[in-house]
Amino acid sequence: MRDDLRHDVLQRIESEFGLKHRAPTNYMRGGTCPKCNKKELYTRFDSPWQLICGRQEKCGHTVHVKEIYDDLFEDWSKRVPATENAPTATARAYLEFARGFNISLIGGWFTQETYYSTQHDAGSATVRFALEKGGYWERLIDKPSRFGKMKARFQPGESYKGVWWCPPCVDVLEAKEIWIVEGIFDALALVHHNVAAVSAMSSNAFPADSLQALVAARPGNLPKLVWALDNEPGAHAYTKRWVRMARELGFTCEAAQIPQRDNRKVDWNDLHQRWQFLDEGEKRDTQVDKDITTARHHGALLIAENATEKALVMFDWKRRSEFHLEYGNRLYWFKLDLEKYNKAIQELEDSDHHEDQQLNNKQMRSKAMQQCGALQRIATCNPKALYYQENKLTDESWYYFRITFAHDAAPIKNTFTSSQIASSAEFKKRLLGIAPGGMFTGTTQQLDAFIEEQTDALKTVQTIDFTGYTREHSAYVYGDVAVRDGKVFKLNEEDFFDMDRLSIKTLSQSVILNLNTDLEKFDTEWMDIIWQCFGAKGLVALAFWFGSLFAEQIRQHQKSYPFMEIIGEPGAGKSTLIEFLWKLCGRIDYEGFDPTKGTPVARARNFAQVGNLPVVLIESEREKTDGSQTKQYDWDELKTAYNGRSVRSTGVKNNGNDTREPPFRGAVVIGQNHAVNASEPILQRLVHIAMTKDGQTPQTKLLVEKLERMPVDRVSGFLVKATMMESKVMETVRKKGPEYEQQLLALPEIRTVRIAKNHAQLHALVDALVHVVPLKKHQVDAAHAEIRSMAKERQLAINADHPIVVEFWELYEYLNSTAGGLNHSRNDGLIAVNLNDFAKEAAEKRQKVPDLTELKRHLKTSKCPKFVETNRNVCSAWDTDAANKPKTVRCWVFQAA
Ligand SMILES: [Zn+2]
Repeated sequence: MRDDLRHDVLQRIESEFGLKHRAPTNYMRGGTCPKCNKKELYTRFDSPWQLICGRQEKCGHTVHVKEIYDDLFEDWSKRVPATENAPTATARAYLEFARGFNISLIGGWFTQETYYSTQHDAGSATVRFALEKGGYWERLIDKPSRFGKMKARFQPGESYKGVWWCPPCVDVLEAKEIWIVEGIFDALALVHHNVAAVSAMSSNAFPADSLQALVAARPGNLPKLVWALDNEPGAHAYTKRWVRMARELGFTCEAAQIPQRDNRKVDWNDLHQRWQFLDEGEKRDTQVDKDITTARHHGALLIAENATEKALVMFDWKRRSEFHLEYGNRLYWFKLDLEKYNKAIQELEDSDHHEDQQLNNKQMRSKAMQQCGALQRIATCNPKALYYQENKLTDESWYYFRITFAHDAAPIKNTFTSSQIASSAEFKKRLLGIAPGGMFTGTTQQLDAFIEEQTDALKTVQTIDFTGYTREHSAYVYGDVAVRDGKVFKLNEEDFFDMDRLSIKTLSQSVILNLNTDLEKFDTEWMDIIWQCFGAKGLVALAFWFGSLFAEQIRQHQKSYPFMEIIGEPGAGKSTLIEFLWKLCGRIDYEGFDPTKGTPVARARNFAQVGNLPVVLIESEREKTDGSQTKQYDWDELKTAYNGRSVRSTGVKNNGNDTREPPFRGAVVIGQNHAVNASEPILQRLVHIAMTKDGQTPQTKLLVEKLERMPVDRVSGFLVKATMMESKVMETVRKKGPEYEQQLLALPEIRTVRIAKNHAQLHALVDALVHVVPLKKHQVDAAHAEIRSMAKERQLAINADHPIVVEFWELYEYLNSTAGGLNHSRNDGLIAVNLNDFAKEAAEKRQKVPDLTELKRHLKTSKCPKFVETNRNVCSAWDTDAANKPKTVRCWVFQAA
């Protein structure tokens, strides 16, 4: 290994994994394994290519330094520039250090060239191999990711079709066995280990010309072919096809497949590097032998022509008399009765039938096996356990299966509970239920064996039962997109997000977001429309909405996140605005829900189904047009949501008996015509935006329509971009929030700390918003000014009494002056009122009596006069009983102003 490269690698693995050189040995040890976290990671000191977990049986994790430090292995021209004297220096370094090849073996087989892409305006050195038919294949070696998906290329206009690439050291006229692999590097890897390998250049290329030339050149002496293409579904189909075609040409064919573990693609070059890592000699030879034998076994399984042949391959490998197997997406049970089988073989050997006498050994075994009924079909489809998924909060768990059918139908994926895989009857029922026509006819014992193999060391996937940010995992998890540490993840084929060391999915399907992760499609034309139609208020609303995407992190640092109230008469545009804000998050045709409708459980579900997304409550405060009482939402229910605690006891039952109180993970937005009428604690928690029709013009009407028509694909990048900027946004909020809070508290108008804090958070979010959308300076200034005046107005609103209280005192003044009085207090400093007296008097004077229940609720908040207590027995100053003694009256008591 080059000294400079080795030096860099040693430095990194020492600091990242804690690997230490154990002099005088050639090993570094004591590193922390990233998979099992045990301090068993080791590597070689002279060539730290790979880091290997010493717990070979239990973990056996292998880390390729090339994969984790790809920056060190990328810029080869910079690291090793070619010179006049060494024109292939760069290519050699690449082949030697990135591929592990021995230059003394392959030295003359390639040239170093350069490639330049005008499309990407970038160039790279290449390693080029000439092809037999003319033309060449070359690998780009300097930061190939700059060229999009292209890492290698053929000479334009030339075709390699029909002809393989044969390493000069391989003599196809002499070889007993020729391995046919996909790429040139695969072939190079194998020839290092004395395997005669040629490259077909692609899995979909059948080297017909080369094979026919062999047929012509070696009549009656054809080599055996081993088809060793990549182990992936596309290549599987080709392998079977090429084997058939080569057999027709007269070749004996086998196949080899490298088993793929942990979803990691391992090719022959990777295996070669693993082998090189072992000391030369017996240890390495044994490993090479073992890996090649295993690959040939897997190849034999792949090209088996029927279930019986496959069973035979497995029987020879496992040496067990009973096992299950899959063939053609059906499950079979193999059980060999040796006595019966031997008898069948004997009969075939002794047979007088011409047909039987023609059978070769393999065919005879097959036939005997069929005759003794060793193979029994146990399922008409192929269930495969993908992983175990659990919800730690509810203590529920499932096994997630993919079921593939023998016919053309698309595979389905679904869950099995533990009891559904514990007995054949339950398994059969569930399978029929989820997989149309999927029939399991095996016994429970057969099922046990199948499940045992399927679930051995099965991966676990965490689940959440809401959509959005999960603080337990520090990840944003939506339906098919997830974001963590600024990186976007797509749902994989097995329906979960594979995020480095976290596997996770959401079980919730109630909030569907259409997120476009292609940020080149994200355009911000809407920003200016919001500005023109809604002005600074629109920006403040946007900043709050944006803040909802970080509500959990904000609450984690600052304990609370406010509620936003957007009010305005019909037509002022609040629904348009809210619906558009939703569209920025990929949710379409949705505004919110009415908390007075539906059951408490349904309401609780609405609060619990999102994380770091708004929960919008709409139109609960209704006009009482016909004088009837409408149901009022009890805003106090929300109080705890301010700090992220559960919105009341929700009574969601899990399988056990305990009641679960899911924390509130979202942000509350209230949209209605009139301001929220609620207790002071709720009013303090609100940031309030009042929208009006002022400023609406025919032109803004057109713009609003444009906003409504804007396709979600062009704007939902907002959520993606915002969540990707998490660390920057939070840095701004953490730093700026407290600064703004001090500024607000310094204003003479602001006296309530909570009001200062809420609005300071909004200020900070406006600053953070700049990381995501291009706000202009005058817009930012206008938004800040708006927030300052919102804070002042909020303080005024808190200072004032609730309208129903104001109304009460006005009526009280009137009634108290005209009649004998309502005040029973003998103390001038106090006012004592009996509310029934009050109602009676009011009715007599033909005054509208306020709703007493409603009144009682708010009267306790009365500031002027200040509320003292309720239900006090007061000796009346003027009312007397039959005996002319002062009456004792139950009164509400206030401090006279
Ligand atoms: Zn390990």
